[in-house]
Amino acid sequence: MNSSLPVVRDTPGLRSQVAAWRKHGLRVGLVPTMGALHEGHLSLVRTAKEKCHRVIASLFVNPRQFAPHEDFDRYPRDEASDSGLLAGAGCDLLYAPDRAIMYPAGFATNVIVSDVSTPLEGEFRPHFFGGVATVVAKLLLQALPDAAYFGEKDYQQLQVIKRMARDLDIPVEIVGCATVREHDGLAMSSRNAYLSADERRIAARLNHILHDAIKAARSGDAIMEVEAEAARHAAAAGFTSIDYVAIRDAETLQPVNDLAHPARILAAAWLGKTRLIDNMAV
Ligand code: AMP
Repeated sequence: MNSSLPVVRDTPGLRSQVAAWRKHGLRVGLVPTMGALHEGHLSLVRTAKEKCHRVIASLFVNPRQFAPHEDFDRYPRDEASDSGLLAGAGCDLLYAPDRAIMYPAGFATNVIVSDVSTPLEGEFRPHFFGGVATVVAKLLLQALPDAAYFGEKDYQQLQVIKRMARDLDIPVEIVGCATVREHDGLAMSSRNAYLSADERRIAARLNHILHDAIKAARSGDAIMEVEAEAARHAAAAGFTSIDYVAIRDAETLQPVNDLAHPARILAAAWLGKTRLIDNMAV
């Protein structure tokens, strides 16, 4: 594995590399990450590499998307290991800005995407999408890639970013990529590292509960009843608290009464101090 991935840490360095590639007619893809990389992240890099001549991964643990009581300080950080993994997946450049580059003194702008940010994650983590939209807007404008790749694992985030790029005329194609799962179906997440062995076993139940709920909804059970039943199953499986299990319009994330339009089931639930999210197409 080539672990000597070139790294740039500031915007001029990033832009001059992208400009050099562009001059040669190369298509450039960007994969934004917060590090602690796993197969889910690497699948985004591989997909980007299939569609683009050059792929940049960014690594920045974005303080603005964590509330003060959340896990910013204990979020896993290992740039050397991440850099090796990225090189092995075909990444060409690591962009690893520090906080002063992303949020210099006097930084005063917050990108707020209404409507699609409001329900679900927006309700339980009110600071979150403002932080995400702000940092992703910056990363897109700093790199100005042809395309940027995001996981469906964070489904509402993907819809928020698509809306933002459309609304602000950011000339970057936003591409969603399928969720990568462990063998037992648990969606890969950097936060899975927080789980004890017992919690890890319970965590794997979530995707099965969502599958069962999809079956029930497709067989005609009332949406609200399906959601409530799935939440009961999650509690019975050992989840300590359920923030939501919801079947929503796949684009707007607004409630639906039936499956006449494409819909998505989304869930967020706690195991002790760890919050897990998952979602699937209905
Ligand atoms: P994060 O480092 O958690 O901010 O995630 C960076 C990107 O990787 C986001 O676009 C995530 O949606 C994506 N991602 C995280 N986990 C997965 C997964 N299991 N499958 C696919 N994409 C993922």
